[in-house]
This record gives sequence, structure tokens and C-alpha cells, in this order.
Amino acid sequence: PAPAYICAPMLDAAQDTPTNRPDLPPEIARRRTFAIISHPDAGKTTLTEKFLLYGGAIQMAGQVRAKGEARRTRSDFMQMEKDRGISVSASAMSFDFAGPGMQYRFNLVDTPGHSDFSEDTYRTLTAVDAAIMVIDGAKGVESQTQKLFEVCRLRDLPILTFCNKMDRESRDTFEIIDEIQENLAIDVTPASWPIGVGRDFLGCYDLIHDRLELMDRADRNKVAESVKMEGLDDPRLDDHIPADLLEKLREEVEMARELLPAMNRQSFLEGHLTPIWFGSAINSFGVKELMDGIAEYGPQPQVQTAEPREVAPEEKKVAGFVFKVQANMDPKHRDRVAFVRLASGHFQRGMKLTHVRSKKPMAIANPVMFLASDRELAEEAWAGDIIGIPNHGQLRIGDALTEGEALRFTGIPSFAPELLQSCRAGDPMKAKHLDKALMQFAEEGAAKVFKPNIGSGFIVGVVGALQFEVLASRIEMEYGLPVRFEASQFTSARWVHGGKEAVDAFMAANKSHMATDNDGDPVYLTRMQWDIDRIERDYPDVTLSATKELM
Ligand code: GDP
Repeated sequence: PAPAYICAPMLDAAQDTPTNRPDLPPEIARRRTFAIISHPDAGKTTLTEKFLLYGGAIQMAGQVRAKGEARRTRSDFMQMEKDRGISVSASAMSFDFAGPGMQYRFNLVDTPGHSDFSEDTYRTLTAVDAAIMVIDGAKGVESQTQKLFEVCRLRDLPILTFCNKMDRESRDTFEIIDEIQENLAIDVTPASWPIGVGRDFLGCYDLIHDRLELMDRADRNKVAESVKMEGLDDPRLDDHIPADLLEKLREEVEMARELLPAMNRQSFLEGHLTPIWFGSAINSFGVKELMDGIAEYGPQPQVQTAEPREVAPEEKKVAGFVFKVQANMDPKHRDRVAFVRLASGHFQRGMKLTHVRSKKPMAIANPVMFLASDRELAEEAWAGDIIGIPNHGQLRIGDALTEGEALRFTGIPSFAPELLQSCRAGDPMKAKHLDKALMQFAEEGAAKVFKPNIGSGFIVGVVGALQFEVLASRIEMEYGLPVRFEASQFTSARWVHGGKEAVDAFMAANKSHMATDNDGDPVYLTRMQWDIDRIERDYPDVTLSATKELM
């Protein structure tokens, strides 16, 4: 009979279920584009540093922070961001990783950390193929983890879980796994199992590769010592683990194998099952295994939904979409960078692409990739990559770039603003500048901006209250313009659709409610739900919509 504790990797035979997708060209197949989601303080920054460390992008972790700081002062240069420790702007970083069998290219897209930026976050997640969920081993699933997870679920994103801070007192392993399963309604399969708790934490048993991984507390940047084992019955385990901890490990793993599902690639890809690794980012522990997991399980660049057809990564022609616009990344140059996720093809610098919305050709002369150290010119890029395209405002969120085909990528929504405030320049002489600043933020997707047809000033709409403060602070920093946000009589905004005559008649009869958005489209500002009900009754020829599809 098989020894009781032989621990075959927790892999399901079904994990290699062939998908009906063709093999991707090697350059595309080696790409992994993902985001990290977590509650503030769980260790996202630390984990990112260690990723870059293993990616060979930097010599020593710690440099990133210093560099990150420098970059932050240059790119976001927002005191508020520092004060509150929130990350307002998203960016993308690329680095290589020597994973199992080959060199991988990881594209890590940073998600804004605060719950008030849900719209931004949602858009960011349209650009990735997977997400890493970082949780604190002592705190478990926290509020922000939960929210971000829900956003991932809307897109059925595959999730890999990293349970961090295992070097500290943490919760019982089963309790952590149960909490994830209960609160997030997702199955969890252990990729590794922690040995010992807190001060007695020794490391993990790698259940996928049958290896003992030992944490080195003395050198925080050292890759863990790894000992290949013949399953959990291997007598050499005694050399490394005290008897009581070893017994506990064997018992727990046996229980885990009875109670928890095995790794199954298909349910992982569908977002129903998450593998969990235990580790300590600050001690560089468990990070390499997590990266191996991203490399092995992927996923590779995925098919993107679009109209009138889907776009597959292996297609020869280049197509991509803008998921983020960031302005004033460099205060010296009033440039904007549009972040584009390449959905297909092999992009080369200098290519002429069609800007689908305006039907105009655009020569992409200076695309940038954000390598760990700094921006660099992107000579080439493949499906799955994120490139930044500096521009003067032509590129907007949701825009498609193709080699001529009129594609529209779907699934990048524009959310209805839930909070409206009026905005005035502190100095009335500077109203023109305010106009310009607000238009910029509208284009970035940071706010909805409405110019009432009657009267002066602007109505600004956001999804979360903190965004007003962020805007005020950015307008002051970037335009030297103090502004005031004040309560508005309006509570909500609706875009007006219909035949020209019907819309004109509607606008004439409702002047005091009418405004235009930054594209010049008519918007009806409501004071109460009753307004909307009344219009639906009185104007059957116009429709009011809460969102404006990004075209
Ligand atoms: P973020 O807010 O999610 O980006 O979290 P940070 O990476 O900034 O980490 C928050 C705090 O937790 C910092 O003080 C880190 O030094 C600390 N930290 C991160 N990883 C670990 C870990 O594995 N163990 C311990 N003990 N502390 C950690």
C-alpha cells in the first residue's frame, strides 16, 4: 500500500484539459499580463519590489521604493497621495522572469488602491488577463480585498492568491482558506502549505513540486533554500523540521487533500478556483513560487471582446484599446500618455495605425514601455503588452487602434456619476484655465464634467466622494489654480438620446436642467428621481441613459 503521507502534487488530471485555442506564437505565449489587488498595507508594494528583484530588473529590493518615490514625485506629484498613502494613478511595469522552462515577460498593471476609484480600477482590470490577490495572514479578507475581488468577478478573471506576512503571528491555515471560500465564494486549493506560525514559521511545503522551501530570516533578499522531497513521507524532512511541526504538517496536508479541491486549470481560468501560496514578501519568501505559478498557470494573453467580432491574440494584424489616460506625467511637458493594451499582433515602433473613432491614421512614433527603472522607447510589442502612447489629447479611454478595421472593444464602461458638485475657480479671472483643467480630467476619465447651458461654472460628477478632493488638489498642483467644490442642486445626470427634433424640443423645454458634457453631448441634470419619471411620461420620444457608452 502507498505510504499514508506521500503527497502527490495537488494537481487534478483535468488540469491539462486541452483548450480549443490554437497554440500562440512563442513571443505571445510567454507573456503574462496581470494586476495585484489587495487591501492597503497587505504588502502589494513589497511584493511588487520582490517581483522586480526576481525579474532581474533591479539589483536589490528597496531601490524600487526609492525610485518609486522619485517617480511618484515626478509623475503624480501629489501631496495628498503621499499624505494618505493612497495610490491614485495606475501605471504598468514590464519585466522578464526566468520561469519554468523559459523566459517569461510579465506585465504588471498597477491598480489604484482606494475604493473611491472603482471606475478607474474596473477599467484597469479590463487590460489584464489575471489578478493576484494579496491578503494579510493575520487579517484575512479585508473590505478592500472584497470590493476589488467583486470587480474581478464581473470579468471572471482568474485569481492567484498570496497570503502574506506569514513571518508574523497569522491565523490558522484552514481558517484563512475557509474565510476566502466563504466571503468570496470561490474555491481555494493550496499550492503550498505553511510550516509553523509566527516566530516558529519555518517555510512552506510546495505541494505542486514536492519541495521544502525554507525561509531565511537573516537575509531578506535571498531566495529560499529549496529541498526536493519524495513526498511528505520523505525521511529527510526530519533533518529540517522539528518533530511536532512535521507531524502537524502531515496531518494538515492530509486533511487539506481530503477537504479541499485539487488544482484544476479550467476552473482556475474560469475564475471559480484560486490557488493560494503562503509567504512573506518582505523576506522574499514564497514570491518565486508565486511567480512560477503565474508562469505555469498563466493565463496567456486572452481573446478580447469587441464589436463586430472578438479579437484573438495570435491574429497577425495589430489591434489594441486605450484603457487609461494619464495627463501631466511630467510637469515639464504637458503630455498625456494613453495606455494601450495590445489585443493582437506584433507592434513595431513607427507603425501607422488607424484611430478608429476619428478614422484617422496615427503614426505611433514614440511609444513607451514602463520598465522597472524608467520609461523606455518601445521598439516592439506583442499582444498582451501594455504600451504608453504620448499624445495631445486625441486618444481617449475606450478608443481602438487597428490596422484599418473598424473595431470597437466592448466592456470598458463609463459609469454614471453618483455624486455631483459645482466647481468654481477661486479666482474668477481664471475661469478659462479651470475649463481647460476640467476638460483634461474628463478626458482622463477621472470625472464627468458638465457645463450647464444657463449660468456659469461647472458641474462635476464622480463615483466616489474622495475624488473631489483629489481633483481639487490636482488642479491646484498642475494648474496653479485654487478651486472650490460646493454642493449642487443637482443629484444625478442622464445622457439624452433620440431624434434631433425630439431632443431639441426637449432641451428647449428644460433649459434650466440642461448641460453639455466634454464631447458636447446633451445631458439632463436631475434634482430627484421624480424628474426622470416625469420625462419618461411626458417625452416618449427621448430616452435618458445613466451611462454613456464609450465610443
Ligand atoms: P501595500 O500598502 O499593500 O502596498 O503594503 P506595503 O508593501 O507597503 O506593506 C505594508 C507594511 O507591511 C510595510 O510596513 C511592509 O514593510 C510590511 N510588510 C510587507 N510584507 C511583509 C511581510 O511579509 N512580513 C512583515 N512582517 N511585514 C511585511
